[in-house]
Amino acid sequence: MQFKNLKLVDYVVYGRGAFNQLDEILAPRRKADFPMIFFLDHYFVGKPLASRIPLRGKDKIIYVDVTHEPKTKQVDALAAALKAEFGEVSGVIGIGGGSAMDLAKAVSLMMTNPGSSADYQGWDLVKQAGVYKVGIPTLSGTGAEVSRTTVLTGPVRKLGMNSDFTPFTQIILDPELTQNAPANQRFYTGMDCYIHCIESLEGTYLNEFSRSYGEKALDLCRKVFVEKEKWDNESDEQLMMASYAGGMSIAYSQVGVAHAVSYGLSFLLGTKHGIGNCIVMNHLEEYYPAGVKEFKYMVEKNNIEIPTGICAGLTEEQFDAMINVSLGMKPLWENALGKDWESIMTREKLRALYGKL
Ligand code: NAD
Ligand code: ZN
Repeated sequence: MQFKNLKLVDYVVYGRGAFNQLDEILAPRRKADFPMIFFLDHYFVGKPLASRIPLRGKDKIIYVDVTHEPKTKQVDALAAALKAEFGEVSGVIGIGGGSAMDLAKAVSLMMTNPGSSADYQGWDLVKQAGVYKVGIPTLSGTGAEVSRTTVLTGPVRKLGMNSDFTPFTQIILDPELTQNAPANQRFYTGMDCYIHCIESLEGTYLNEFSRSYGEKALDLCRKVFVEKEKWDNESDEQLMMASYAGGMSIAYSQVGVAHAVSYGLSFLLGTKHGIGNCIVMNHLEEYYPAGVKEFKYMVEKNNIEIPTGICAGLTEEQFDAMINVSLGMKPLWENALGKDWESIMTREKLRALYGKL
């Protein structure tokens, strides 16, 4: 048995208002003449957070448009522009949801690795450490702040740059930054965490490391989405730690059916990760009966709309494309259904499931 030697984030700060320590944290990492680059989610254009960014010297804020999930082309263009303008940078700081954080991780790696980010979509293909990188979530749930991947859509696949060089050097977990997120978005991204927990805890890869984090994360998700009558400061604090623990849980196990199916939707239809997972989870009673029941309860209790009928009118060719992407996610299926997964999740069965979404 070969056990995973898990690379973690190097430094973690947690606390309400911790964002104010950013200047102090960056100071020893600054190299003379080379700026810090802040990738700020475009939602924050003109918002108070933008003016709290500790700009020094040639530092720059780049607002990132996250209407669509990050693409390899976008990462390559950002890295090329920074090299052209500055030669080198002292570091990159991603501030936003999973998309802005993933962009920062990927650009950090492409500042030092040759070629296109598409060349590194896969496992352990990245060979050089990137530049110093910091992640600061403004939405909680994806676990992108702790993971060893950055999920990118490339010319031929949607797949992460999974490597020991991918985790952030530093993360700043400040629950104040998530407090104004709209209820729907908060729910979709929060459910990403809930689904990570169910898929990890119900999977065949489960071990005590994953269970310990997964159970804690699940517990925190329930506090926020089941027990609370109203969103409050404590909810932001709890969901931020749920995201962290849920990310740690899947780091040592794997996700499952909802993610495998949702990847197909996002590849073909551009459906975003959080909402895509919710659309799929809504129909997974057969695989996660208790989790789906509780999921539906949370949807109702929090007054959330989950879209239906998104696959209506697709051609068989399009269904085939989604099935191909989904069945390509072998470790996810193996975790969910065991070594014999191919005899359980046949193309016909998956076609029927997509037909219901
Ligand atoms: P997101 O980053 O795509 O953002 C969703 C929307 O919320 C955007 O419109 C954004 O502008 C807005 N937003 C962000 N912060 C806000 C705030 N505080 N208030 C109001 N609006 C705000 O959403 P997400 O669900 O956090 O991330 C999804 C992305 O993360 C996908 O690209 C997915 O592939 C990626 N992901 C990565 C990992 C990983 O391990 N690297 C894991 C899961 C998902
Ligand atoms: Zn996820």
